[in-house]
Amino acid sequence: MSHESPAPSIFSRIVAREIPATILRENDRLIAFEDVAPKAPVHVLVVPKTEQYRDVVELAAGDPELLAELVATAKSLAEELADGDFRLIFNTGENSGQTVFHVHAHVLAGGLKE
Ligand code: AMP
Repeated sequence: MSHESPAPSIFSRIVAREIPATILRENDRLIAFEDVAPKAPVHVLVVPKTEQYRDVVELAAGDPELLAELVATAKSLAEELADGDFRLIFNTGENSGQTVFHVHAHVLAGGLKE
């Protein structure tokens, strides 16, 4: 009988350095890297390293402190890379456009009003 684990997500493969990415922040719980298809001058993904939460609803219920750390990281990145203002987007569910079911925040910043 097979007990194979599901394949690691694309973001876990970035954490493992199996796929290249421009990594901007990393600690034991989170990683932040540039989105490969940017939708704004600054478009960074902030991703908990654990794959245990598929989306922000699961993360909020399961580890609110980690969600708070993710939001603080988004603010800090927006300050470092733009003027400190940002959009924080969590696509949640297939019909929202979510394609990677490993929770992640899109941080969009820089020139958003233009
Ligand atoms: P979502 O549609 O919310 O699930 O977002 C997935 C995001 O991951 C998209 O904005 C993609 O452009 C981005 N993405 C997919 N593969 C990579 C990768 N290898 N490196 C960086 N960003 C990626």
